[in-house]
Amino acid sequence: MRPRKIPLRKCVACQEMMPKKELIRIVRTPEGETLIDLTGKKPGRGAYLCGKVECFRLARKARALDRALKATVDADLYDRLEQDFVKVQDQFEAAKELNAREP
Ligand SMILES: [Zn+2]
Repeated sequence: MRPRKIPLRKCVACQEMMPKKELIRIVRTPEGETLIDLTGKKPGRGAYLCGKVECFRLARKARALDRALKATVDADLYDRLEQDFVKVQDQFEAAKELNAREP
């Protein structure tokens, strides 16, 4: 028996189940905006990706985000998200290490 239930989510690209904290959430807000949500708390339909740009590219190739978000993600938006993804990757990795150090 596990001491504590860790919420798991599936990466939409590689289909791997991971603790929510180790995934980057991409959200489609009720306003119809698609953006990266590092807080994981923004309202809207979310899609999760491992914090790896390879997975982002895989998701783009498979149009996995379109399916997960039930919306068309056009090429420009994928470009913008990829740029943001690369930007937040370092920040995300740092936060992950910090979480890992917690008892
Ligand atoms: Zn993945």
